[in-house]
Amino acid sequence: MSLKGKAAIVTGSTSGIGHGIAEALAKEGVNVVINGFGDAAEIEKLRAALESDYGVKALYHGADVTKTEEINDMVSKATAAFGRVDILVNNAGIQFVSPVDQFPEAKWDAIIATNLSSVFHCTKAVLPGMKAAKWGRVVNIASAHGLVASPNKSAYVAAKHGVVGFTKSLALETAREGITANSICPGYVMTPLVQGQIKDQAKANNIPENEVIEKVILEPQPTKEFIEIADVAALTVYLCGDAARGITGTALSIDGGWTAK
Ligand code: NAD
Repeated sequence: MSLKGKAAIVTGSTSGIGHGIAEALAKEGVNVVINGFGDAAEIEKLRAALESDYGVKALYHGADVTKTEEINDMVSKATAAFGRVDILVNNAGIQFVSPVDQFPEAKWDAIIATNLSSVFHCTKAVLPGMKAAKWGRVVNIASAHGLVASPNKSAYVAAKHGVVGFTKSLALETAREGITANSICPGYVMTPLVQGQIKDQAKANNIPENEVIEKVILEPQPTKEFIEIADVAALTVYLCGDAARGITGTALSIDGGWTAK
């Protein structure tokens, strides 16, 4: 079955993995709502390029996914434009690194709201439409940190484990409704989120950035190579297709062998 003519919301798609997923879906003929922060003119360029490169309709909605009313408005506007939302990719995410006893409360709250609670709120908003259509795909971009931990990332690890658990529960609830729900658990992907971590670690440890990449960032990833954005996007597209109709409630690793250890 082709995905042509379906409609998707991809949260956090003005950058990195989310943008790659929006592009890959558009390439399959899916109309997309892109979302996230950034410079208005740059975002308009991304949106317009999706339409001109792939011949689909693309909308931008600037909902802050920590705000339920803004999420609901995004889903209403998507439904008004496309008739329904068939595919939800919960991708927006942030990171902050600190030991637990020094972790700022506001950072903890922001990570839980952005990386975990938004997944619930976005899913809740699209689910009635998916149930009515008897078809839906929810793909949650968790992380290898949804399955295993690293020190100093307590909020992120807690949120991503939460996403994996939430996804399993959702899959059980929707198993007879033509809806699947899965988590994707990438290892390190070179995006602005990871570039920020590389810069911070280089400064904190007073070592060059290439040494941080080799000794810190890629240390847990046996392939010693970053995961490509396009590969995470291709897995997302696969999960949205008919061949994946029997895949639900899973946490699929794409991590260069990280969680095999
Ligand atoms: P990124 O920083 O490049 O992009 C994050 C996107 O989320 C941006 O578009 C940003 O504007 C948006 N965003 C942030 N807060 C938001 C909010 N409150 N409301 C709406 N949008 C918001 O990051 P990325 O590396 O592409 O990460 C995307 C997802 O993949 C995240 O959930 C991240 O945890 C996950 N992930 C990333 C990696 C990696 O190595 N890069 C690995 C595993 C999982």
